[in-house]
Amino acid sequence: MENKISSVTCQNCGVCCRNFPFVELNDKELTNLENYTGKHRNSFTEPKGRSYADGHFLKTKANGDCIFLRVNNGTYSCGVYEARAGICRNYPVTEQHWLWCNTNRVK
Ligand code: SF4
Ligand code: SF4
Repeated sequence: MENKISSVTCQNCGVCCRNFPFVELNDKELTNLENYTGKHRNSFTEPKGRSYADGHFLKTKANGDCIFLRVNNGTYSCGVYEARAGICRNYPVTEQHWLWCNTNRVK
């Protein structure tokens, strides 16, 4: 699918990595993250995913931020940028993503 936002229009506001993002990972993405972080997948995923899913989802912090989101003086960056999953690389892809980005992003 086509990425609906360009690097020019993305504000790097971090909103899509906050508020309990649903980041589902396939086996290749899990292995990439294991190699990058040096940690086992169980340390950064919820093995059973959410109650209605059976996938591997990235864990979130207590405040809802992605476990890999870095916050520095009000700016946000991805702590695993080079090894981030496809959904993170291509976000926003679906109409739902696009609506969330447009509604909530910091302009
Ligand atoms: S919410 Fe939208 S504008 Fe903000 S970082 Fe994510 S893609 Fe970029
Ligand atoms: S892995 Fe990186 S890009 Fe993906 S949700 Fe987490 S902080 Fe955001």
